[in-house]
Amino acid sequence: MGTILEYKCKKCRKTYSVSVGIGYLQPMICEDTVKGIAAGKYGKEWKDAYENGGENLAVTAEKVIYCCEKCGSWENKTDITLYAPDKKSVEKSRHFIMRGDEGFHVYKQFVPTCSQCGGAMKELEKVYELSCPKCGTVNEPGPMILAD
Ligand SMILES: [Zn+2]
Ligand SMILES: [Zn+2]
Repeated sequence: MGTILEYKCKKCRKTYSVSVGIGYLQPMICEDTVKGIAAGKYGKEWKDAYENGGENLAVTAEKVIYCCEKCGSWENKTDITLYAPDKKSVEKSRHFIMRGDEGFHVYKQFVPTCSQCGGAMKELEKVYELSCPKCGTVNEPGPMILAD
C-alpha cells in the first residue's frame, strides 16, 4: 500500500524497506483500523477514546515514518490519529478520511513512543535518507515502488 522505499546499506549490506502514504485499498485499511481500535487492538486508552467519541470517528491510517526525538532511531508505523466530524450531521460510519480533509478535526492524536528508549517520536516529513537499523549508516533509497 502506498509507496515502498527499499534500502541497501552501503556499509553492512543489510536491506530494509519502509512503506509510506496510501493506496487504493485505503478505505478498507481505515475500516480495519477503526475496528481494531474498537476491539482494543491498540490498547485500552484508544478503545475508550473510540467508545466515548462515537461511531462518527474517522482515521487516516496512513503509513508514516516516525523518528525518536531522544535517540534518533526511526520506525514505520500506522498513524491511528482519530478525527471527529465538525458537524453532527455528517454521514454515519464514514471511517475513511484523508489527511487535510475538510470538516474533521483531530479527536485524539497518535504520539508513538520509541521501542528502543521509550522517548516521544515525531513524524518525519520527508522520507529519503534513513539510517541502517543494524549499523547506523545513513543510506539513500533505491527506486520507489508503487504498491497497492
Ligand atoms: Zn548497515
Ligand atoms: Zn529512542
